[in-house]
Amino acid sequence: MKIPDSYQPPPQLLADRVILVTGAGDGIGRAVSLAFAAHGATVVLLGRTVAKLEQVYDRIKQAGGAEPAIYPMDLEGAVADDYADLAGRIDGQLGRLDGLLHNAAQLGALTAIEHYDPVTWLRVIQVNLNAPFMLTRACLPLLKRAADASVLFTSSGVGRRGRAYWGAYAVSKFGLEGLTQILADELEENSSVRVNSINPGAVRTAMRAAAYPAENRAALPTPEEIVLPYLYLMGPDSREVRGQALDAQ
Ligand code: NAP
Repeated sequence: MKIPDSYQPPPQLLADRVILVTGAGDGIGRAVSLAFAAHGATVVLLGRTVAKLEQVYDRIKQAGGAEPAIYPMDLEGAVADDYADLAGRIDGQLGRLDGLLHNAAQLGALTAIEHYDPVTWLRVIQVNLNAPFMLTRACLPLLKRAADASVLFTSSGVGRRGRAYWGAYAVSKFGLEGLTQILADELEENSSVRVNSINPGAVRTAMRAAAYPAENRAALPTPEEIVLPYLYLMGPDSREVRGQALDAQ
C-alpha cells in the first residue's frame, strides 16, 4: 500500500503535536525530524551520537521551528527502566506524546545464517526489535491520552520477504511487521492510537551504502525526497489507516 499520490500536507499539519523520533541524528530519521518540525511539530530527537542530534536541533531552530528536545540514548544498552524514565520526562516536560517513529536500526552482518556471529545477532535484534517493543510499551499510556496518536515502525523489503544473507536485520524487520499487526489489532477497538509499518525503499544513506557498496548512490533518492509518506502517516489525514504495511516509494 502507498499513500495517495496527490497528497499535499498543509504547512501546519503537525502543529501542537509532540513526536518522538529514534535515530534522529542521521539519514532518514534526520530528514524526517526536520520535516516534522517544519510542519509544526515539537520533535524529541533520540539517538546515540549527541553531536549529530545537536546539528539537527540547530537546523530546526534556525528554520524557526518549535524548540526540539534532545534525548541521547543508546538503544543497545537501554533497559525497561530507561524507557520508563524517557516517557516520564516527556510527560513532565512536554505534557503529551502524539507520535512515535521507530527509525533507528543497525544493519549487522550480511552473511549466511550458518556463519552469523551470535553476538552480532543479539545486538541487532536488541536495537532493531527489542528496543522498539520496550519504547512502545513505555510510551503507550501517553499515546493513549492523545486525541489522535500514530506509532510508525520502520520495516524493509527484506522484512516482508526473506532473502539470503540478510540475517538478523531481516528477522528484526519481520518481527516489527508482526509487532505492528499485533499492536494495531489490540488498539483497534478501544483507542485512537493507530499503528503502521513503513518500508522506505532504497534511500541514499550510510546504511544503504554499507549494504550496497558498489551501487551508484547518485541514482537513489535522498532522505529529504521521501519524507511525504512519513508526514501523511504522522498527521491526522491518515487517521483511518491502521495495521497497514506501507511503502514510501
Ligand atoms: P542510517 O543512516 O544508518 O541511520 C540510522 C540511525 O539509527 C542513525 O542515526 C544511528 O545513530 C541510529 N542508531 C543506530 N544504532 C543505534 C543505537 N544503538 N541507539 C540509538 N540510535 C541508533 O540508516 P537509514 O538508512 O537512515 O535507516 C533508517 C531506517 O530505515 C532504518 O530502520 C533502516 O532499517 C530503514 N531502511 C533504510 C533503507 C535505506 O535504503 N536507507 C531501506 C530500507 C529500510 P548514529 O548516527 O549515532 O549512528
